[in-house]
Amino acid sequence: MEKAMNIVLFGPPGSGKGTHAETLVKEFGFIHLSTGDLLRKEVREKTELGVQAEKLMTAGQLVSDEIIHGMIANFVKPVIDNKGRVLCDGFPRTLPQLDFLVSFLERCGSQLDMIFVLEIPNEMLIQRLTGRRSCPACGAVYHIVNMPPKLDGVCDACHGALIQRKDDVREAIEERLATYEKQTFPVLQAIETKGLKVAKIDASLQREVCYTQIAGYVREFLK
Ligand code: AMP
Repeated sequence: MEKAMNIVLFGPPGSGKGTHAETLVKEFGFIHLSTGDLLRKEVREKTELGVQAEKLMTAGQLVSDEIIHGMIANFVKPVIDNKGRVLCDGFPRTLPQLDFLVSFLERCGSQLDMIFVLEIPNEMLIQRLTGRRSCPACGAVYHIVNMPPKLDGVCDACHGALIQRKDDVREAIEERLATYEKQTFPVLQAIETKGLKVAKIDASLQREVCYTQIAGYVREFLK
C-alpha cells in the first residue's frame, strides 16, 4: 500500500503553486485540491455559489470560510477514505481554514504532513500574474514571456482559446496581494506555532530548481 502524505502549497498568488501541483500529481499521485479551480468551475457553470463568488474573486477578495470548509470536507473525505494523498493549493488562506483543515484531517484519521511555503518578492508576482494566460477548457497555464504556447492564444494541450483571468489584471492583482498580506500571511505564523512541518522554498528561482527542492522533501518523507 502507498504511504499516505498530505501537503499544502502555501504562498501568494503567482508563486507557482498550481504549476508545481501539476508536476507533483504526475510524479507522486497526489490528488490536487485547488479551491480557486473549484470556485472558477462554479462561476463557469453559473451556479448560485458561482454567481456569489465571482464578484469577490474579481475584486481580489476572499469568499467566506463556510463555503471553503464545505468544499474541503466534500473533497478531502473521499480521498482519505481511498488512502489517497491530498495536495492543498490555495488554502488554508485564513486562520479558521487552517484550524478546519487540521481538525478535519484528524477526524478522518489522517494528518497534515508538510507545508511548502513559496517565498517570492511582490514585483516578481506582478510580472508573472499580468502575463499569465490560462485555458478554461483544460486548465493549462501559460505565460506570454516565460512559458508561451506554441501558437499565440491557443492551448498546446487541447487547442482551446486562452484567456486572461479577470483577476489577473493589475488592479485586482494589487488587491489580491494586499488580501494575502492581511489575511493569509498570519496563517504562516499559526502554522509555525502549531508545530507543523514547514519547508521554505525560494520561489523566485527557476521553476525546475524550485520543483526539485519540493520533490526532494516529498521523496524523503515517502522513503
Ligand atoms: P486562486 O486561484 O487560488 O488564486 O483563487 C482565486 C480566487 O478565488 C481568490 O482570489 C479568492 O477570491 C477565491 N479563493 C480561492 N481559494 C480561496 C480560499 N481558500 N478562501 C477564500 N477565497 C478563496
